[in-house]
Amino acid sequence: VKDEGRGTVRFFEAAMDEQLQARRRIEHELSGAIPRGELQLYYQPIVNGRTGEIETFEALIRWHHPERGCVPPAEFIPLAEQTDQIGRIGAWVLDTACATAAAWPQPWRVSVNVSPKQFRQPGFAAGVAAVLGRHGLPPGRLVLEITEGVFIQDAAMAVEVLTALRTLGVRLALDDFGTGYSSLSYLQRFKFDKIKVDQSFVRRLGQNADSLTIVRAITHLGHNLGLQVTVEGVETQEQLAVLRELGCDQMQGYLFARPTPVMGAMMTPISGSPD
Ligand code: C2E
Ligand code: CA
Ligand code: CA
Ligand code: CA
Repeated sequence: VKDEGRGTVRFFEAAMDEQLQARRRIEHELSGAIPRGELQLYYQPIVNGRTGEIETFEALIRWHHPERGCVPPAEFIPLAEQTDQIGRIGAWVLDTACATAAAWPQPWRVSVNVSPKQFRQPGFAAGVAAVLGRHGLPPGRLVLEITEGVFIQDAAMAVEVLTALRTLGVRLALDDFGTGYSSLSYLQRFKFDKIKVDQSFVRRLGQNADSLTIVRAITHLGHNLGLQVTVEGVETQEQLAVLRELGCDQMQGYLFARPTPVMGAMMTPISGSPD
């Protein structure tokens, strides 16, 4: 039994070693991804909940790995956050998204995800101002999507940065709303322009009566606080019907369009748009 136990320990050690090595390799490969041109932004439309017209495109990063193909952000953004690579990657995302959006038709906005670590870097708001200036993008056409993670550690500092961004004229969205521990308390600390209801609630609409109650409550709460409410992960006509009924301001999901790298594909009429 003793020997068997030792064998098991050795087995786990070997497995952990392998994991660690795989991680180090990805970390190393990721550090060269920008210079090698392997990172790309895809864009997914966010449409008006009443008219179905496109209002914004959310920029979503992809990594085209030479061997592993298209790597989704869930597989490398957390790693980039743990190491110090998120600063460079985040700066690349912001710069690329603003440069791209500056060439779009006037009313369209671009929504950019900002990781908490990137947000907390000194000079973040000044950096945003510089990027907008460099590309001549009016601040009102940039939406920054942040999560409640920015408030952890130093909430007062987060409010200061948010206020600086607001002063610039940038729009601010609280992403993944309803998944954290204290989303509600953060609505009291800073007046966002909009909240994005986490897609886990939308996914269960129609299967679970409680999800409907929750999405309705979040929508009412947002509206009563004077915020716009965006729902993401809309995949079916049934979900669309319910969400329209609830009066959600904006919708995003595969029903309208998947994220795509190509502008032309986004110009085609959107199926599933209300009437
Ligand atoms: P998120 O900000 O909540 O983005 C929405 C995610 O939902 C995207 O996944 C999008 O492709 C996906 N999605 C949109 N519509 C539907 C739908 O109808 N059904 C389903 N099942 N999914 C849908 P993606 O692109 O894989 O991104 C995952 C997460 O990675 C994002 O979640 C965001 O947290 C992070 N991320 C993506 N790009 C960036 C970036 O440039 N910077 C940072 N810091 N994070 C990013
Ligand atoms: Ca987002
Ligand atoms: Ca989200
Ligand atoms: Ca997310």
